[in-house]
Amino acid sequence: MNTPQIKSASTKLLQEDLLLEVKGLKTYFKLGKGKVAKAVDNVSFSINKGETVALVGESGSGKSITSLSIMRLIPKPPGEIVEGSIRLEGKELLTLSENEMTEVRGNEIGMIFQEPMTSLDPVFTIGNQIVESLMKHQKMKKREAYEKAIELLKVVGFSRAEVIINEYPHQLSGGMRQRVMIAIAMSNNPKLLIADEPTTALDVTVQAQILNLMVDMKEQFGSSILLITHDMGVVAEVANRVLVMYGGQIVEEAPVKDLFLKTKHPYTKALLKTIP
Ligand code: ADP
Ligand code: MG
Repeated sequence: MNTPQIKSASTKLLQEDLLLEVKGLKTYFKLGKGKVAKAVDNVSFSINKGETVALVGESGSGKSITSLSIMRLIPKPPGEIVEGSIRLEGKELLTLSENEMTEVRGNEIGMIFQEPMTSLDPVFTIGNQIVESLMKHQKMKKREAYEKAIELLKVVGFSRAEVIINEYPHQLSGGMRQRVMIAIAMSNNPKLLIADEPTTALDVTVQAQILNLMVDMKEQFGSSILLITHDMGVVAEVANRVLVMYGGQIVEEAPVKDLFLKTKHPYTKALLKTIP
């Protein structure tokens, strides 16, 4: 039965609705001679359960470093400082041990990058990589994991999943590899899916396919999404809320519909003009 939702209640942020809470996140890179580059400068935002939040901003504004900070995957050299608080359902990620964080990456947060070739291992078949992930994180036996891998490949649109499963990453197109990455990210039923410009490297025709797939998966698995993009058309289509980043800071935050109505920051105004 559908109980009518009370409007005012749904806008309130209830503690149990909160999935991710980032507070005062600062990520610096040590440049030597006491100098630091501030990539992310005092960033705070939250993501509710089931919500799709878009993170937009020009190149170099700190979007990727924000997402890599959440995943604790900041490249080490020449040295980095990550400060603040990142809580996933109340659990502080910045103080977890490396082993605990590996568990979080496998089971609670899935990530898709711009170029899936960098995250798929070229020497293993597609099947091997999905099966491996399922055996490691879902503790499945090989046979069960193989069957699940076939099922997942079908869900992401491979009708010939039995063939694809034996192929290597280089044998697939960019769009196909991105679908495999979505299958791997979703195989662990993550609470949060972080997608860092997942369609930038793809043909326009494949872009819509991939976005639709992410939205379908989110609905099927009940995940939340942090979608990094510079495409405001995509934001308008799939996001509930949007965060605008500029120079390492979040300069604007609004429900998507309000962004088009009452934008304040000059960068956001310029960004909105880019919509065809
Ligand atoms: P975006 O994803 O929004 O394009 P990034 O998050 O990749 O931007 O980068 C944010 C800033 O951090 C940029 O100014 C970039 O030069 C800087 N940065 C990224 N990685 C490093 C690094 N390893 N050392 C120093 N500065 C870095
Ligand atoms: Mg980036």
